[in-house]
Amino acid sequence: MGDLSIGAKDAEMLGDNASSSLKLKKSKMNGRPYLGAKQTTIGRAVALTGVGVHSGAPVSITLQPADMNTGIRFAVSHLDKDVEIKAHCEFVDSLTLCTVLSSKCGALVATVEHLMAALRGMSIDNVVVEIDSGEVPIMDGSAMPFVRSIEEAGTVELDAPRRFIKVLKPIQVEEKGCWGQLLPFNGFRLDVEIDFETPVIGRQRFVSDMNPEVFRDELARARTFGFMADVEKLWAGGHALGASLDNTVAIDDDKVVNREGLRFADEFVRHKALDAVGDLGLAGYPLLCSYKSYRGGHALNAKAVQALLADEEAWTFVDAPFVAPARVATSDGLVNEQSTGSAVMVAANFAADRN
Ligand SMILES: [Zn+2]
Repeated sequence: MGDLSIGAKDAEMLGDNASSSLKLKKSKMNGRPYLGAKQTTIGRAVALTGVGVHSGAPVSITLQPADMNTGIRFAVSHLDKDVEIKAHCEFVDSLTLCTVLSSKCGALVATVEHLMAALRGMSIDNVVVEIDSGEVPIMDGSAMPFVRSIEEAGTVELDAPRRFIKVLKPIQVEEKGCWGQLLPFNGFRLDVEIDFETPVIGRQRFVSDMNPEVFRDELARARTFGFMADVEKLWAGGHALGASLDNTVAIDDDKVVNREGLRFADEFVRHKALDAVGDLGLAGYPLLCSYKSYRGGHALNAKAVQALLADEEAWTFVDAPFVAPARVATSDGLVNEQSTGSAVMVAANFAADRN
């Protein structure tokens, strides 16, 4: 595991201000990702309630705004004492059925993946998730309910440059015919492919640069899925007690069981891409990379992040260039602070693919 303390690697400043407006236009035309130059949090606290897909138990969570450099943390309050667990792959306890984080003192938070995807997908850097149970609610099996809450709360920029983990060299992990690859790229691009025997799914591929709009419109509504035969086995073992057709696309006899059908023709691969956004988010910072996976899942995604962080030559921290608002003297002698336009342009410059 690489040393993740802030001082461990020199933060490298990227980009220059020259011709940034031109690059903004180019960036927009090419649909390049807007990653934002400043760290963010949410505008106010928002609460959600639901059930845990594995425990079947009711659960409430509250997303709380957090200060710069807090990252994403879970504050677990159902135990004798309050415990905070950082959403980082260092604290991943299990990936068998869902992503479970655990603290050194044994507190657990399960099924964090879709909430993590929503926070990372919507470019929220700092938030504390208060939770009164050991499992994040499954909601409708997608990330959309979390995205709606984040949008309700609003996104607030903080006065600190956003820090990224920049991938410097290819990292490849494999597992029983599945593989994942992290490649250098000045942006965040996903290329996710799945291949299932059942004709309901078959071979599906999703490729896109990621930004909050793409995440919300193309991935967030895609639900988790499962096969009836597996669900019955899980139920027999006391798992998936909260799983139902309200939160899972169920496949039986090469048919989708849910009466409402699919939300996208390729909802399955979109959900896998959503999962990858959340799993890669466990690097602790947004990544600058292209991630390709074939028949991947939580375990493979986590393995890729762990392999990356374990190789100190494979990554470095980079801070987005930070530009203070320009002060402009007007003809009537007033001094105005210009809007964040300059920061936006620099961010677009930063995000442009220069590979
Ligand atoms: Zn999922």
